[in-house]
Amino acid sequence: MQQECTPASSAPAWASSALSWLALAGLLTSCAPASVSEPALRMEAADVTLARQGYEEMLAKFPAYADPAIQTYVQAVGARLAVNAPRINFPLRFTVLDSPGVFAYSFAHGEIVIGRGLLVHLNSEAQLAAVLAHEIGHVVSLHPLRQAQQARKLRALEAKLSAHFGTQQGRDVVNAFSLARARGYSREYEVEADVWSERLLARAGYDVGAMAQVLRFFIQQDSFWDKEGFELWEIPEFAGGEGVFATHPSSAERLAQTLQRQGNAARSASASDSAYLRKLNGVVFGLPERYGVKRGDVYLHPTWRVAFTVPPNWYLFGSSERLVAAPHGQDGLLMMWMKPRAPSESARQALEQLARGAALEAIAVQNTAGVVGESAIAHLLDNGENRNLRLAVFDVGSWRLHVVGYTYSAKNWTDADKGFRGLLSSVRAISAAEAGNAQAWRVRVAPPRTDAAANSAKAFSQQARAQWQLLNQIYPQGRLDAAALIKTVE
Ligand SMILES: [Zn+2]
Repeated sequence: MQQECTPASSAPAWASSALSWLALAGLLTSCAPASVSEPALRMEAADVTLARQGYEEMLAKFPAYADPAIQTYVQAVGARLAVNAPRINFPLRFTVLDSPGVFAYSFAHGEIVIGRGLLVHLNSEAQLAAVLAHEIGHVVSLHPLRQAQQARKLRALEAKLSAHFGTQQGRDVVNAFSLARARGYSREYEVEADVWSERLLARAGYDVGAMAQVLRFFIQQDSFWDKEGFELWEIPEFAGGEGVFATHPSSAERLAQTLQRQGNAARSASASDSAYLRKLNGVVFGLPERYGVKRGDVYLHPTWRVAFTVPPNWYLFGSSERLVAAPHGQDGLLMMWMKPRAPSESARQALEQLARGAALEAIAVQNTAGVVGESAIAHLLDNGENRNLRLAVFDVGSWRLHVVGYTYSAKNWTDADKGFRGLLSSVRAISAAEAGNAQAWRVRVAPPRTDAAANSAKAFSQQARAQWQLLNQIYPQGRLDAAALIKTVE
């Protein structure tokens, strides 16, 4: 798992190790590695194709956020910076993605994206400009191109290795190789992009201190993740792109360097910009409805009409087509996906399909709360090791939920499977009324009110206050300016 490609990389160590085995399991793929030693860099047709593909893949997972006013606004802020940047062969374009992810990303052909999750955590147009300018910095420094070219070489290597040693081994070697290279190079890229960000902010007439403010926010987020845990959403691989904002080197290290470069100019406090905050009013917060929503400890999907209880200390991540539930800091992972039910296929047949020939054991029938299905353990031999999988198939209305539970290490199976069974026993159908109430949370911007945090607490089952503080960039114990507008979620 390469550091700069997912916000989770600055999460605690246990998270990174969970991530790396997810990467090995093929659930999360690693990003393209960086290289700064590429001589005579030229963008070839294959690079453009790869960048376009990467961008299309990203839009397929995270479509543009359907709010023309927000899109036009972010494009305008980006354009104000872009006129001050060196020309590349493509127009720079800026798109807000409908993702709760706190990230920004750039592609070699000039497409720059920002997750709505990052947009709503920012407090001013200058901070937004700092993020976009950082990504412009990557593009004009040809970082995504370098990464894309490196990725092509690695893919060729992977194909060669796989032909000799088998697919998994080939992938493992290439992943390890990517990681080693990425560690050495991404530092230079990030600093180079930060320097560009400061330069473009100054040229476009923004507060240069906004870059330091954004880095301070990322430091807050890192410590929020450390202390409160986090819900990870899939940031897939895009061979044609580079650079989730602010992950590696550490935000603290980048902040120190920014302060050194900018001196007092970077020391301005996080200035609240009420015009910017008003634009955030009504923007979706967290999961969009198509991913399903979480209310307290209950996960609900309004279209699939299904709900289940997330066990304490578990988190969810995934995309619209696949949901993953996993215990924090422990081995085990439950993958779930829904498909329209084929009337000709029985639940048992679907279960056998999931088992792919492995023997099924302990088959149990579940027939409660509008759900009919079967669950079983499949035994298989994996690299000479006996391994169990938890398999389940549940019919909910005209849909069929498919579930596969894994552990990385066979010795953790018993504990993990307890959690799997707990979650699966809570699967239930939901009524039309309940589905209608399963609406995404939205950011509300209001004058400071003493009960704001309490109101916000309704939105967050856990860590409510912490989440609200982070949203307003005052985590863990900052204070809001008495006159400032305040962000809440409802
Ligand atoms: Zn970056």
